[in-house]
Amino acid sequence: MTTAFYTHSDCQRHEMGDWHPETPLRLQAIEDQLISSRIDQFIERRDAPLADVADIERVHTANAVALIRDHAEALAVSKEAHYPLDADTSINAHSWKAALRAAGAAVAATDAVIAGELENAFCSVRPPGHHATPTTPMGFCLFNNVAIAARHAIDIHGLERVAIVDFDVHHGNGTEEAFRHDPRVMMVSFFQHPFYPFSGTDSTEPHILNEPLPAYTAGDVVRRLVTEKWLPALHAHRPQMIFISAGFDAHREDDMGQMALVEADYAWITKQIMDVARQHAHGRIVSCLEGGYNLSALGRSVVAHLKVLADID
Ligand SMILES: [Zn+2]
Repeated sequence: MTTAFYTHSDCQRHEMGDWHPETPLRLQAIEDQLISSRIDQFIERRDAPLADVADIERVHTANAVALIRDHAEALAVSKEAHYPLDADTSINAHSWKAALRAAGAAVAATDAVIAGELENAFCSVRPPGHHATPTTPMGFCLFNNVAIAARHAIDIHGLERVAIVDFDVHHGNGTEEAFRHDPRVMMVSFFQHPFYPFSGTDSTEPHILNEPLPAYTAGDVVRRLVTEKWLPALHAHRPQMIFISAGFDAHREDDMGQMALVEADYAWITKQIMDVARQHAHGRIVSCLEGGYNLSALGRSVVAHLKVLADID
């Protein structure tokens, strides 16, 4: 079975200023590592299509969608480079199209995996998504790509149970908000705490499994948590498809957070998710890039993740 790699050059045209860590260079760093690791020959490259607004509006309000579209259109005719959405999130004239490609990759990958064309897929896209709530873009995120794909799988393909696994160093507050009242969507995550966005500790819903971790937590603790908490919950939920919010900013070399994972930890976590997916979901996984700001560590970690997804030794 095939692993696909969805991306699009439009995703590199969204930028938030030269100083900003969520930079187009992130996708280039992933491409460089794909080439130098020689795994590109084992994965099928696919162009990310533009998402339908209807797909995005299954998660986001029409106002949240119009906010991005209208300001990007206004920037295209004005002399301004950026429109600020919050202290660390802004858009440029290309952000609307980039955001449609990012969500479109997740939706197209979902369609192809459910159709049986692919076993799984990785979406090398930006802007990332897991902080974007149904109403509000925030934390470098415009539209919640993983949430849009999960909603698409349920509403359009009729899946009854899916899971979202989030291993970004930050809590996926937007994803939790989207599915807090929908037990068909299990969310399992860990994240550094206390840390941006300072959420994730107040949910009492059994289908939302958040594990706050202190700064400097390393892979041994994370692996134990995955084994003891995530896996029993996922097996009990029996997801028919698994989505991954694949942020790599919990890496030891990533200064955005203060956790201490390494590539081998990402490979191990990916293997555990694969085992659950193969047991309950015909192996179906769609993984979407979230954070990861040390360019070298990001590229190496994505390669480690992809090698497991594609069964490359
Ligand atoms: Zn993050």
